[in-house]
Amino acid sequence: MLGQRGPEQYEFFAGSLRDLVPDDHVLVRVARVLDLSWLRAEVADLYCAENGRPGIDPEAALRLMLAGFLLGIVHDRRLMREAAVNIAIRWFSGYGLTERLPDHSSLTRIRQRWGEARFRRVFERTVQACVAAKVAKGEVVHVDASLIRADVSWEALAKCWVEKVGDENPVHEAERDSRKTGKYKKICTTDPDATMATSGRRQRLEPSYKQHTAVDDEAGVVVDVHVTTGEDNEGAELTPALERVEALTGVKVATATADSGYAYAKVYGELERRGTAAVIPPKAEPIRSPVPMRRFRYDARHDVLKCPYGKVLKAGRAVKHGRFFTSRARDCKGCDLRGLCLSAGRVNKAVVVGHDYPALLRARRRREKWSERDQELYCRHRWKVEGVHGEAKSWHGLARAVRRGLWNMRVQAYLAAAAINLKRLAAALLLLRSLFVRMPGNRAPFMIFVDASRLRAAET
Ligand code: SF4
Repeated sequence: MLGQRGPEQYEFFAGSLRDLVPDDHVLVRVARVLDLSWLRAEVADLYCAENGRPGIDPEAALRLMLAGFLLGIVHDRRLMREAAVNIAIRWFSGYGLTERLPDHSSLTRIRQRWGEARFRRVFERTVQACVAAKVAKGEVVHVDASLIRADVSWEALAKCWVEKVGDENPVHEAERDSRKTGKYKKICTTDPDATMATSGRRQRLEPSYKQHTAVDDEAGVVVDVHVTTGEDNEGAELTPALERVEALTGVKVATATADSGYAYAKVYGELERRGTAAVIPPKAEPIRSPVPMRRFRYDARHDVLKCPYGKVLKAGRAVKHGRFFTSRARDCKGCDLRGLCLSAGRVNKAVVVGHDYPALLRARRRREKWSERDQELYCRHRWKVEGVHGEAKSWHGLARAVRRGLWNMRVQAYLAAAAINLKRLAAALLLLRSLFVRMPGNRAPFMIFVDASRLRAAET
């Protein structure tokens, strides 16, 4: 017999909203590990103590934002529309079933009032909580960068290009739109902080920001996140990122892994100087000349360079990133390779050797002898840090900038990273609980050592 519901009835609900939210809901799991008791004191100086209308409770506002990032609803309007009908969001942020929710514009004003630094603090607190729970250690970190599409339309870019070329390169009208001057640079009129960048040679340039992420090897906790404009070089961000991780975790980073986008002599040199082992595969040397640089041998002990013909090039004038090494004209005079090796009109060879070139040579030699652990770490690098980027983009709204401006993008990145860390922490607690249930003698959960491999298994 076909069932049929009766006419619509109004019910009086007298219980807690928590009773209506399933135990395994992500907001319930995160609520168990989320402690925002410190927040009120952190932002107290931003509010007037004596007069004015009472503002929205900072904890409620942050919980609303975090709920949005945990559920992948990152636009304020959409979030508040969803919160009005979503019992889990209402319960998580402390609002009753019939209580009036704040207007979406209040969240914008709160972000502006708190500023980037306060949201960075929220993210840092999640890292410290993970370190305290032994979910993250900070000894081995995987570093990578990912582009985030800025909230800029293509039309804004095209218009800007024509104006820019017209202003800076006064040329004939017919040429103005031809893009043949070679002197243009696209900029974003609606979001000047974003710049054109691409992640592959075959992909088109897009207005972007770049997120630099450091992920801990233990359980994939995000231990550092920093956003720059899209065209920034990731290699320059590696050492500052490791310094921030060390300041946050209180532990020295022993090993850092990164992909070949970081394989520059300067990066290897900096990592050597700070005593961090680099698991970064060096790139093959580009061949730009018939006698490439790799055919020259650098002798670090005597600080000389030897050419393929066995002649010595001595160090000379210093330039920004290195020194010139020059051969003697009389050595090159009778050389068979002279036609290929020397540029037109020159009588001797001059090459620039970077300051950290010896570090690059050592990294190349080390790559040939990578241990099994190094290979394993580099395999993990891919799914750890690139996995976090995928997770943030697919599930926590980081695929595209929601708002404009660098600081807005940073706030978005901090909240997405905080949401990921809270999930990791909640997974650790779940594991502790399951172990506690199985343990004889009612031993307290905090006595149990968190085994990272079991944590990983529990997460998958
Ligand atoms: S041209 Fe000079 S620098 Fe080049 S291989 Fe011959 S001797 Fe060496």
